[in-house]
Amino acid sequence: MHDHDHHSELSEMQLRVKALETILTEKGYVDPAALDLIVEHYETKVGPHIGARVVAKAWAEPAFKRALLADASKAIAGLGLDTKVGDHLIAVENTPQLHNIIVCTLCSCYPWDVLGLPPTWYKSAPYRSRTVKDPRGVLADFGVTLPATTQIRVWDSTAETRYLVLPVRPAGTERLSQDELAARVTRDSMVGTGLVAA
Ligand code: FE
Repeated sequence: MHDHDHHSELSEMQLRVKALETILTEKGYVDPAALDLIVEHYETKVGPHIGARVVAKAWAEPAFKRALLADASKAIAGLGLDTKVGDHLIAVENTPQLHNIIVCTLCSCYPWDVLGLPPTWYKSAPYRSRTVKDPRGVLADFGVTLPATTQIRVWDSTAETRYLVLPVRPAGTERLSQDELAARVTRDSMVGTGLVAA
């Protein structure tokens, strides 16, 4: 990147977002300061560490795990985390027999409340189309190889329904605290494109 063309670093999408924000601001529909606060909130406060705490708690506390799988929105709302979970968050549990993977085939719906901003690959056309047709191939691209006997279930997110994967708890972690467990839970493991390492 040369110094003299730093003015053109905005991508086409960023330019479109800026144009839209300018129009909405001029017409008085949005307050730029409020928008900045929302963006800052998702960039700095809400992130995969929230989902990781939820997963660690579910691993450690069977009653919480049952509540989470029954109604994730309700279970997480009761934790007093620094996030506001929407009404339709569904937690799906991975087991040695069943692996869940999340996608949004239509656009990029994602459980922002528990995972923060979605990674670029999640929004990419290849991920969105291939995950449905060839989930095992997509998993291989992420370095995940499952036994042939493990069934893979693909969940298609929508604007109304978001999913969070409850990964398999690795063996040998029985003595870890919830904080230590949470530190091992990766974002990808909660989307289903990764496993939690032993
Ligand atoms: Fe979407």
